[in-house]
Amino acid sequence: MNGFSLLKNTNAYKVFSLDVSRGTASHAYLIVCEDELNLENYLKAFAKRLLCSESEPCGVCRNCTLIESKTHTDVVFYPTGKKILVADVDDLVKKSAYKPLECDKKVFILNGVSNMLPQAQNKLLKTLEEPPKNTYLLLGATSTYTVLSTVLSRCKRLDIPSFKEEDIVKALEGECLDRQKLLSAVRLSGGKLGEARERYESGAGALAEELAIKTFIEVTSSRDVARFSGKVTKELLKDYISSLARLTGLALRLQDHFESGDGAFYETALNLSKTLNKGALIHASDAVRKAEKDVYFNATATAVVDGVVFSILEGKHKWLK
Ligand SMILES: [Zn+2]
Repeated sequence: MNGFSLLKNTNAYKVFSLDVSRGTASHAYLIVCEDELNLENYLKAFAKRLLCSESEPCGVCRNCTLIESKTHTDVVFYPTGKKILVADVDDLVKKSAYKPLECDKKVFILNGVSNMLPQAQNKLLKTLEEPPKNTYLLLGATSTYTVLSTVLSRCKRLDIPSFKEEDIVKALEGECLDRQKLLSAVRLSGGKLGEARERYESGAGALAEELAIKTFIEVTSSRDVARFSGKVTKELLKDYISSLARLTGLALRLQDHFESGDGAFYETALNLSKTLNKGALIHASDAVRKAEKDVYFNATATAVVDGVVFSILEGKHKWLK
């Protein structure tokens, strides 16, 4: 199951599972998780825990497989379109009046509560307050800033944290067979499984790291700057800058003490730690920090990349003397 090996070790899941075992499950949970791309999979896992007869969702029974394919008659998913609208909540209210057909429980999954307009959230309050018997609501949100306090106070909140890089690698290595590509994707994912998987599939993680590495190899004079920065597209910008940050950071650390590693990314950092002096590396890492700020303030990709690449080059020349 997608990310279940990670999820099952979180406090969020343990608390939920214990509630279910004790028969004290709350009628509404707010599951907060920054990993938008995998949140639905986590919500499915919670629903399976509610309906599967095993104490850990088996993944193969009728309930588990129907939840996985979103075709279970007693597990309703929202939104039906892009985000949860008032019409979705009306539909939920209507459907919650019916008894479950196949099981003894009825589950409503609302993914994307952070994007729900206040009117739609308000509509949900009554069901959250007085839910029909054996009805469970699983609300998924990437953050709670936009969730009304009246909604928050009626749900039991569970937080799914970011995961350690090595744990994400372990969770994905069965399906992502190119190890170096996987490591690149995970390094750039900020502890989020869904983001790591997407970067692996698109190859964006590996490409961003490759460009970061090439910054130090291909750009040797100011004439190279414009040609090089054209390769860093808007989509790759953030990953490219964080790859540069990691690369210079690792190179600086390697000048101070040995750290083991493998792959092109590590080899480049090791090489930089030997061939560039400390001044040039600090200059580069300052330039990267400035670029991170520029990205945050929405500067154009070309301007950011031109700036950082030129600055790294400048540092290399300055500290050669
Ligand atoms: Zn099952």
